[in-house]
Amino acid sequence: MDLFEKCHNWTEARDLMASGFYPYFMPLDETEGSEVTIGDKRLVMIGSNNYLGLTTHPKVREAAIAATRQFGTSCTGSRFLNGTLAWHLELEQRLAEYMGKEAALVFSTGYQVNVGTISSLVGRGDYVITDKDDHASIVDGCRLSFGTLKRFRHNVPEDLDRVLAQIPPKAGKLVVVDGVFSMAGDIAPLPAIVEICQRHGARLMVDDAHSIGVLGGGKGTSIHLGVNDGVDLIMGTFSKSFASLGGFIAGSEPVIHYIQHHARSLIFSASMPPGNVAAVSAALDVMLEEPERIQRVNEIGDHMRSEFQRLGFNTGPSQTPIIPIIIGDQNATFLTWKLLFEEGVYTNPVIPPAVPASLSLLRTSYMATHTNDQLAFVLEKFEKIGKMLGMI
Ligand code: PMP
Repeated sequence: MDLFEKCHNWTEARDLMASGFYPYFMPLDETEGSEVTIGDKRLVMIGSNNYLGLTTHPKVREAAIAATRQFGTSCTGSRFLNGTLAWHLELEQRLAEYMGKEAALVFSTGYQVNVGTISSLVGRGDYVITDKDDHASIVDGCRLSFGTLKRFRHNVPEDLDRVLAQIPPKAGKLVVVDGVFSMAGDIAPLPAIVEICQRHGARLMVDDAHSIGVLGGGKGTSIHLGVNDGVDLIMGTFSKSFASLGGFIAGSEPVIHYIQHHARSLIFSASMPPGNVAAVSAALDVMLEEPERIQRVNEIGDHMRSEFQRLGFNTGPSQTPIIPIIIGDQNATFLTWKLLFEEGVYTNPVIPPAVPASLSLLRTSYMATHTNDQLAFVLEKFEKIGKMLGMI
């Protein structure tokens, strides 16, 4: 059978396109902040991860331009060989200090951090234990490792305890959880997880992609919950609050040193371009100089969550500025997405396999730079469409 036959026979996306309900890969013409333009349509953006609104901050933008002027557009090689600039090392030092860890290592994407860290640390005979709702990049890191993968029920520490108790006590164990879960916006119960890991002699890694810049005064979930010393490794990405592209892992010096010399996604891939490095460093400056942005995004999250709930929407377990509107049925989710889009509100429809079949949702997320008028507009449109479809 021809390998490509499945491509010719696969029509799911084309069917959706033909029906006018295809929401993916849509090119944005303008993305200046909290509103975007698609063709001649202007929409309030509540589907980005630009939590602090820094992608267009003058200092961040200028830093990226200046670095590109000085160093060019690319390092054209791996960190391991010709792709390291003094700026990469400086950024690593700053991130280690910011996160309260001995060392940090910068990768070209957050995806590569998870893949490279997990696959380099978890070897034959070791175990990696993940929350069932962990991000796909964690799952892929586990798949690339030579260890055994075990999973526990989402945010149920007692289930982690049960899983760890079944693993040979002498085996190496790495538990990996999202600090804030990217679809539902709920927070991992880290104090209980830390206690369980310590009791079983397991190491703990937290993916703080959605919490850095948002929780713990910007420093993420483990600071927010007061357990930074109990978390061995913290992963962060630059594609959200840091307004750039790339990611990092922070932890003790010997472990970071080991990852630096074993993570294939670091060694066999080109390094972060100078403009991206400079943008992260400038974003970190702004986070320190303008902490009111961190406060604002959280206030907006709390306001929108309580308003959605007051209107009668199901916001699931959200505790952060990521607020899912759970609709359930996949087709109803696409219809709601489309009607909101036509009214000028940009959301992200999330369907299986990203969520269970009965839990299709619209993911909404907020930025420190959303104005009160924009938020009122979003709520008005949600109320209108929710009532029209009999959802509320
Ligand atoms: N972890 C989580 C929880 C994420 O949501 C994402 C990105 N959506 C990543 C890792 C990967 O980060 P990046 O976009 O930097 O590759």
